[in-house]
Amino acid sequence: MLVDQATNDALPSRAAIDRGTASLPPSLPLTGLGEEVVETHLLTELVPAFNGPKTSANYYGFVTGGVLPIAEFADHVVTAFDQNVSVHLPDQSISTVVEDRALRALVTLLGLDDEAWQGRTFTTGATGANVLGLACGREAVIQKHSASDELGVGELGLLAACMRAGIGEIQVLTAMGHSSLYKAASVVGLGRAAVKDIGSGPEQPWKIDIGLLQRELQRDRVASIVVISAGEVNTGRFSTGGAEEMQQIRNLCDKYKAWLHVDGAFGLFARCLPHTPEFAALRESVSGLELADSITGDGHKMLNVPYDCGFFLTRSSSVLFSVFQNPNAAYLSSGSSSVPSPLNIGLENSRRFRALPVYAVLMAYGRDGMAEIFTRQVRLARGISQFLHDSPSYTLLAQQQESSATAEEGINTSHLENTSKSVRFPNTHIIVLFRAEDDEINTDLVNRINATRRMYVSGTKWEGKPACRIAISTWKVDIVRDLKLVTGVLEQVLKGGS
Ligand SMILES: *Cc1c(COP(=O)(O)O)cnc(C)c1O
Repeated sequence: MLVDQATNDALPSRAAIDRGTASLPPSLPLTGLGEEVVETHLLTELVPAFNGPKTSANYYGFVTGGVLPIAEFADHVVTAFDQNVSVHLPDQSISTVVEDRALRALVTLLGLDDEAWQGRTFTTGATGANVLGLACGREAVIQKHSASDELGVGELGLLAACMRAGIGEIQVLTAMGHSSLYKAASVVGLGRAAVKDIGSGPEQPWKIDIGLLQRELQRDRVASIVVISAGEVNTGRFSTGGAEEMQQIRNLCDKYKAWLHVDGAFGLFARCLPHTPEFAALRESVSGLELADSITGDGHKMLNVPYDCGFFLTRSSSVLFSVFQNPNAAYLSSGSSSVPSPLNIGLENSRRFRALPVYAVLMAYGRDGMAEIFTRQVRLARGISQFLHDSPSYTLLAQQQESSATAEEGINTSHLENTSKSVRFPNTHIIVLFRAEDDEINTDLVNRINATRRMYVSGTKWEGKPACRIAISTWKVDIVRDLKLVTGVLEQVLKGGS
């Protein structure tokens, strides 16, 4: 009903935003306006000024995801019953048990072993999960550098724990890490400057340079957290070429006592694509991620549940507990149970039942239903890539193949070449990065596209020039319809203006 009030355009009209802005009361009213008046105000003046990541099928900015109808329904149930999922109280509410089931189902969907990945919790998003990842990494690397009976950061604080362990610096090594990783480094007291890019140069900057990684890990009195981008937000590409490379990185992390974290906010879901030649290269890029110590994923992107929903997984539930335990609150104890109280393994105490929409989506669609949605998204991204590739007016960017780099590392990729030879753009997941050939058009390209208000894209920079980025993450993808719309808009904007 609410959505009927909105248009299906990717952006509202400028006039609707102006109307909405003009309608905002200047300050807190002394006497309330009343629920009815405010309800009408919301529906008729504010809703028309909202943008369309959910209502439109063609909102391709950032990686926003949409909202599946069952997720929307479940989210209304969450609000209607306002469960506080903080302490596991199985005699009083089923909510923590459902949350646990949702996390288990998610782990299974991702092809991870649910016995191995027992540290798991829902977060507000991937940024929140990256904060958990670096906090766990920080705790673990200092422990690994300490005498076995030494207390960790959770107890002693960063400064004291580092001094006792003889650590002078903690660094975060990554290739094209998401901006939220820098924020997370600041939040957990490592500092944004601690994040070092060890990408493989201008050809494949999203890939970790293994030689450089080894040299950094060897530094004396330095503890390291390694973060794999899976995938990278500008290009959709992955920091590793597959299982063998992940194993190399794992071995290096073990040797030098580093923590291995994966930021897989959206790219992680490439693990759920069908086992067919069409997706073999992508599946290879995300294989081996199970060797990590911890993984970040987003719910509100690819799972198409409402904001705020992400998740954090770790194989070291003890580390998670040492960081996040809510100590000395006996009244919050849930006794011994296989389901941990969420307040001991994450940031918040009181928190929303954000697991329910995830539970609802996974139960409604199952493994095959999710794979079908993800398949449509990849096919649309590849269809758009084909159009851009064939067009003399556009350049498709970040297309370097993985094989040369992996071959250097002595990794055999011949099985991949056999299976995906006939697949166009085998490494394209859900992101398409491109620019216009004509510099003048290119500088204005994002504005021109978004000014049509029929589709929305984000701007970025690539190789020093403005570039345009399409991210396909809604369940609403209809390949034929959307390919026609997107190519139509891309043709139209070449002709000048919108
Ligand atoms: C979107 C994204 C984030 C941040 O996620 P939020 O859910 O917006 O907090 C982090 N890492 C990657 C790779 C992302 O794509």
